[in-house]
Amino acid sequence: MEDLKCTKFNTVEEQVIPPRGFYARHIYKGQVIRITDLEGQQVPDFICFNRYNHVEKISVNNTLLINGNIYATTGHVLYSTHCNPMFTIINDTCGRHDLICGSCSEYSNALRYKVRGTPNCRDNMISALAPYGVCEAEIPYSFNIFMNCPVSLDGSISIQEPISKPGDFIELQAEMDCLIAISNCPQERNPCNAFNPTALAVLVYDPIA
Ligand SMILES: [Zn+2]
Repeated sequence: MEDLKCTKFNTVEEQVIPPRGFYARHIYKGQVIRITDLEGQQVPDFICFNRYNHVEKISVNNTLLINGNIYATTGHVLYSTHCNPMFTIINDTCGRHDLICGSCSEYSNALRYKVRGTPNCRDNMISALAPYGVCEAEIPYSFNIFMNCPVSLDGSISIQEPISKPGDFIELQAEMDCLIAISNCPQERNPCNAFNPTALAVLVYDPIA
């Protein structure tokens, strides 16, 4: 707890997301979600919706446009399709995340790696959100925490192994009541998770002023 701005809080929920697993819940305005990379080099894909209107959801495009940076970190805001603030990043011990490479899917794995039926983040999101009545067509592309996709001066991009170390975490404070979903990325065919998917920890808490 060494690097926290909020040193006092009431825990709402603590959970471990197993390798290749997923997670979803409602989060109220003011609450904080901390996502910890337990073993290092593991990517959670993160998406969120306005709790009361799922048409409004995270826009990675608005987020990078309004922040003016493709590498979101502490102080940056995740914006919605309606350009409303959804979450503010209040702590980030890693400093490298991705807004441009989307989520792995059955289709991208088939195209890129010639394999069918692979575990993937899009299917994880579908499973996570089905209990909330969100269908595949409503699921946006994701903020990819700890994902390391540097952009070169010539515009080329590549997926590289994350720089996150065991215990690195990010904290997102809700700016509106949200439904969130996380896919613990199961990708093993590129360096996204250093070829070894591992567990993540989630802590949701109410800060105490
Ligand atoms: Zn993935």
